[in-house]
Order: sequence, then C-alpha cells, then structure tokens
Amino acid sequence: MKKSLFLILTLLISTALAGCSSESEEEAHVEHVNGDIREETASVSTLPSFMDDKPQEMHDIYMAAAQSKELLENIPCYCGCGESVGHRDNYDCFVNKTNEDGSIVWDDHGTKCGVCMEIAAQSIIDYQDGKSIKEIRETIDSTYENGYAEPTPTPAL
Ligand SMILES: [Zn+2]
Repeated sequence: MKKSLFLILTLLISTALAGCSSESEEEAHVEHVNGDIREETASVSTLPSFMDDKPQEMHDIYMAAAQSKELLENIPCYCGCGESVGHRDNYDCFVNKTNEDGSIVWDDHGTKCGVCMEIAAQSIIDYQDGKSIKEIRETIDSTYENGYAEPTPTPAL
C-alpha cells in the first residue's frame, strides 16, 4: 500500500495535474453540486461509476482517502474548494458523506484536482510512516501556505 501511494504521488507530480477544473459531466443517476458529481455506493470498498474511466492510481487514492476519514477530516485542502464548493477539509474532496449503515456518498471533486489528490496522498503516506495527525497537518500547512488558495476552514487540532 505504501509503495503504491508513493508511485501515485510521483505520477501526480510528473503529470503536473494542477488546480481544479469546473467541467461537469452528464449522468442521469447522480447528483450535481456546483459542477461536482455525488454518487452513493453500498460501502467504502465499492467505488462510484464516475471512477470507471479514471486511471488505477486515482482509484487507489479514492479508496485510501475514504478509509482515512479521521486523518483527512483534520487536514485542510488548499485548492480553493472551501470557498468554491463549501468544503470543510480534504476528506470532503473525495467523500461527501458516510452513513450509519456503511453506505457512502462519493464526490468527484478530487478527480479533477491535483492539489486535493496530492494533499491526500502525502498525508496518507506520512500517516503510514507513523507521523501524528498534528505533525502531518503542520507539514501540509507549511507546504501549501504560499502560492495556493485559502485553506478550508478545518478546525485547529
Ligand atoms: Zn480540494
């Protein structure tokens, strides 16, 4: 898992995905919110259909992000989504909501955004390396405080 996330991070950086586009896709059975698609599946282990045409690396990031709720809810996103779509943290870029019965509402925002994916991948790698959530947050804040959008209003730790 750790090794594959490293690969993903390298790939993201090398493909220079940057910023968030506002392009929207048309699908009948899903909800659209400010250009982002939200789709529910039965559990964190079932990816939504909007991922079907996305590369494997992106599937890995989405899976890892969905399973890192506690971590990513404490990590701000610096892509501008706090202002543009009301996100509160980096977890919101991938998952809109988790339900009591284990079902999950995915958000396709992260598929269009290199910053969201980089922040998630870096945070998850550091977490697997044994760093605390507080340390990880400090690293993300100092990496992105200059040259990026305002962070989401994620409560301080
Ligand atoms: Zn974001």
